[in-house]
Amino acid sequence: MGFRVVLLGPPGCGKGTQAEKLNDDLGLIRLSTGDMLREAVRNGTELGKMAKTYMDSGGLVPDDVVIGLMKEKISTIKEGFVLDGFPRTVQQAEALDEFVDIQHVINFEVSDDELVKRLTSRRSCPDCNVVYHMIYKPPMKDGICDKCGATLYQRSDDTEETVRARLKVYRENTFPLIEYYDKKGILLNIDGEGSIMEIYDSIEEAL
Ligand SMILES: [Zn+2]
Repeated sequence: MGFRVVLLGPPGCGKGTQAEKLNDDLGLIRLSTGDMLREAVRNGTELGKMAKTYMDSGGLVPDDVVIGLMKEKISTIKEGFVLDGFPRTVQQAEALDEFVDIQHVINFEVSDDELVKRLTSRRSCPDCNVVYHMIYKPPMKDGICDKCGATLYQRSDDTEETVRARLKVYRENTFPLIEYYDKKGILLNIDGEGSIMEIYDSIEEAL
């Protein structure tokens, strides 16, 4: 199997963009819990049906279902993968360690002020979930998704106040996870404030 990479970083740090580049250039499969849940529900697998009952009732899908899906998906991958947005807790990281040997954890370091600047300029695609940025990564046609042609929108939770509150929660929750991977000796801190290419180069170097 190819590279087995986890990307860690606050919302707006650019890890989704880097995950796409790693997919384009190295063929690493991008895995996110949201995409995986939607795929399992669409395919009507047993775990997908279970997940759907939680999603339909507006609840969070429990860890054992998410981890079960992750395990199923990873067992089908030969090219290597990059995990985007998972794990979020030490418990999830420990569960992941039971069935796969993660080689690198890349932690994107970006200041809160910079994140606020970025997050309030985001525009998202409602259909394919691609995220654009009016300054750093604008779509080719104003307000239109490059990939699927849908009309982009601004998420209501992209105001400064909610962004700062979200970042505070993220920092508190993720600190133990960063420590966990640091102790294992597989954590790589990457300066996430450079250009997309600069950041990508430092990731490639680190792998
Ligand atoms: Zn789209």
